[in-house]
Amino acid sequence: MAFTAFNLDSRLLRAVEHMGFEQPTDIQLQAIPAAMTGQDVIASSKTGSGKTLAFLLPAMQRLIKNRALSKKDPRVLILTPTRELAKQVFSHLKAVSAGTQYKSALILGGENFNDQVKVLDKNPDFIVATPGRLADHLSKGLFYLNGLELLILDEADRMLDLGFAKQLKQINEAADHRKRQTLMFSATLEHGQVEEFAKDLLKKPKRIAIGAIS
Ligand code: ADP
Ligand code: MG
Repeated sequence: MAFTAFNLDSRLLRAVEHMGFEQPTDIQLQAIPAAMTGQDVIASSKTGSGKTLAFLLPAMQRLIKNRALSKKDPRVLILTPTRELAKQVFSHLKAVSAGTQYKSALILGGENFNDQVKVLDKNPDFIVATPGRLADHLSKGLFYLNGLELLILDEADRMLDLGFAKQLKQINEAADHRKRQTLMFSATLEHGQVEEFAKDLLKKPKRIAIGAIS
């Protein structure tokens, strides 16, 4: 099967072609159409299996297809456990969004807070962040998530292992409204806290487990 079988905007298909990818991986094959229906998804597959595009493509498609809920608030927020992973996701995002006009921001711990305030003031559509620093910005009340359409938790298992449960709950509550969709990715779902956490954050999620023993 080719990427063209997904009902994706032609700019996204061109971006994927440009990245040199011919066929979706197993997780992409399942997660992309599931996420594109608008339902919540909890998915697991091993490291290196292509989870980043499995959430970036439906995220971009949603931005293109839906009207924004707010002119100021970010529309898509992607949380990752570490600075390095956030940078990797951001570079994939740049490649995938190359043909579009959407503004994106990378908000990482360990960097200048006021510079980030200036970036957030420009109303990015898309934010890739580490949870601690993003929660700090929310706590200061300088930034809101009322218009958030899509919350993506990348490597949820590692975020919980790193002790980010409190920040994830804070972020979840700040973006708690009827129209929000949530996608949760993890290397494994056989992780005590992940399932429990999913119950709080996801609504009737579609479950996808690639390579799991069933
Ligand atoms: P994961 O998040 O599951 O660990 P990544 O999204 O980081 O995996 O992808 C791993 C590598 O595979 C990256 O270098 C990525 O660019 C590449 N990749 C992603 N999708 C495809 C695809 N459909 N075909 C070939 N390579 C891909
Ligand atoms: Mg990944």
